[in-house]
Amino acid sequence: MGGSINPKVGPNWVIVGDAAGSINPFNGEGIDYAYETGRLAASLVAEAVATSSPWPLQRYPEILEDTYGLYFKVARLFAQVIGRPALMRELTRGHAFAPSWSGCCGSWPTSCGTTSWGAAEAVYRSAATLARMIPEPKAA
Ligand SMILES: Cc1cc2nc3c(=O)[nH]c(=O)nc-3n(C[C@H](O)[C@H](O)[C@H](O)COP(=O)(O)OP(=O)(O)OC[C@H]3O[C@@H](n4cnc5c(N)ncnc54)[C@H](O)[C@@H]3O)c2cc1C
Repeated sequence: MGGSINPKVGPNWVIVGDAAGSINPFNGEGIDYAYETGRLAASLVAEAVATSSPWPLQRYPEILEDTYGLYFKVARLFAQVIGRPALMRELTRGHAFAPSWSGCCGSWPTSCGTTSWGAAEAVYRSAATLARMIPEPKAA
């Protein structure tokens, strides 16, 4: 998650929400993510207190990456693509992404839910496969 404070955790602190980069690059929404990362951090802090150990906190970055990493990467790629009209034109020409990027993306999840969206999900899965293979895009 780019544009955020790093590291996101220390021996007795955890960064959550916007400051942790938990903002959906598709649409800039961050309220859900602020709550979700807050709850996650609280559960790890509770575990740390219960076990009198700082180690539970150290799992936080990995859990963040597992939860949001790929989804946010796809979203950053998407943001880059729609910011380049020529590339967007090529991708939407013919058949590859013909079933309406905009229609699909408009119905993509705003959080990391698991609902099925038919064509939108198919496009997302293709983009996720691509995102796994390529490095993180440079900020525009
Ligand atoms: C105009 C606008 C519209 C938005 N619309 C949406 C939307 O429709 N849906 C959505 O999901 N998200 C939306 N967002 C994003 C959303 O507001 C944030 O993602 C969300 O509020 C992040 O929550 P947070 O707790 O991480 O940070 P914040 O809500 O920014 O809370 C951080 C708090 O820390 C305080 N603070 C900062 N520094 C210090 C300090 N040194 N000491 C003490 N306190 C400090 C700040 O005053 C603030 O109260 C919008 C954002 C903007 C700017």
